[in-house]
Amino acid sequence: MKKLAIIGSGLTGLTLASRLQHKFDITVFEKARGVGGRLATRRGETYAFDHGAQYFTTRTESFRAFIQPLIDEGLVQQWTARHVEINGTRIVKRSNWKSEEPRYVGAPGMNSIAKRLAQKVDIKKNVKITSLLHQDDWQLEDEQGILYKNFEWVISTAPAPQTLQLVPENFIHYDAVKAIEMSGCYSLMLGLSKELSLPFDAAHVINSDISWIAVNSHKPQRGNGQTLVVHSSADYAEKHIDSEHDAVINHLCERTSHIIQHDVSQAQHKVLHGWRYANNVKRETYQPFIDHNLKIAACGDWCLGGRVEGAFNSAQNLADAIETR
Ligand SMILES: Cc1cc2nc3c(=O)[nH]c(=O)nc-3n(C[C@H](O)[C@H](O)[C@H](O)COP(=O)(O)OP(=O)(O)OC[C@H]3O[C@@H](n4cnc5c(N)ncnc54)[C@H](O)[C@@H]3O)c2cc1C
Repeated sequence: MKKLAIIGSGLTGLTLASRLQHKFDITVFEKARGVGGRLATRRGETYAFDHGAQYFTTRTESFRAFIQPLIDEGLVQQWTARHVEINGTRIVKRSNWKSEEPRYVGAPGMNSIAKRLAQKVDIKKNVKITSLLHQDDWQLEDEQGILYKNFEWVISTAPAPQTLQLVPENFIHYDAVKAIEMSGCYSLMLGLSKELSLPFDAAHVINSDISWIAVNSHKPQRGNGQTLVVHSSADYAEKHIDSEHDAVINHLCERTSHIIQHDVSQAQHKVLHGWRYANNVKRETYQPFIDHNLKIAACGDWCLGGRVEGAFNSAQNLADAIETR
């Protein structure tokens, strides 16, 4: 069997691996310790947090068909959150997701979906690919200078700006990938020793350095201990991406306390994660970027306007294109 290298074990990379494993001998390279990418769950003390994607919708037939067996197994569950929209500090709209389009989460964490998909895939974790060399076939080099050889195809599913650092300049879609911008986000994880009574489980916030507040522990199967996940606005993250974490934590705590009218600065557990490339700046859509001549391709949520469903569908589109060739 010909060899295929996939860079990234997020939903895009894992979907590609499961779709194409009948055709290729696949190795997935992942720079992180665990799988899932931005479908992320982190544990600390007795608390657990989804610090990347918060929930997802299923608007396409193909994604619904993929998610249904995971719902049947309990690995994906509906989040019937009390949802509010907050403008500055004022609640301007209330709704209940129980009676709206379903919003889903992985259970017991967002990364449950990735962990399931990863079971039958050869994944080299803690391996950051730093360059791709093409002669007769592809050779990948990692941070330690280790070479992985003899791949007929290579596919990058890293966020567009990171993909650009890897693909060669003669990749026919180089300029198109270069034009795709992604913005950052800070994710503040708060574990509280005393349960706060809040009028919502999920809040979208506008006109603030905060864009989102979730009572993460109110998602299904999240166990004990109240947890909040707070996301900064993209603007705030862009301006402060290199700031000291303590200063960012203090600012986001202060803003959150102001919005929810409870002091969260004394939370028992406070951890910050900075996502350099969290979301697409524009919701544009592209066909997957394939160079049949060089046998290199790239895709990810950033091909289909961002989001979890976009990641899945971009992988499906690329797998279709490679399979039908
Ligand atoms: C804070 C935040 C909130 C979000 N909220 C939502 C939401 O509520 N709903 C929603 O639908 N979507 C949300 N998203 C977006 C969603 O998480 C993504 O659309 C989706 O998870 C992207 O999957 P992916 O596989 O395309 O990319 P990723 O999950 O980013 O996977 C790419 C993988 O490539 C790896 N990688 C990168 N470079 C290298 C390298 N050189 N070598 C090896 N490995 C490498 C990365 O470590 C990563 O694991 C959110 C994202 C963030 C960050």
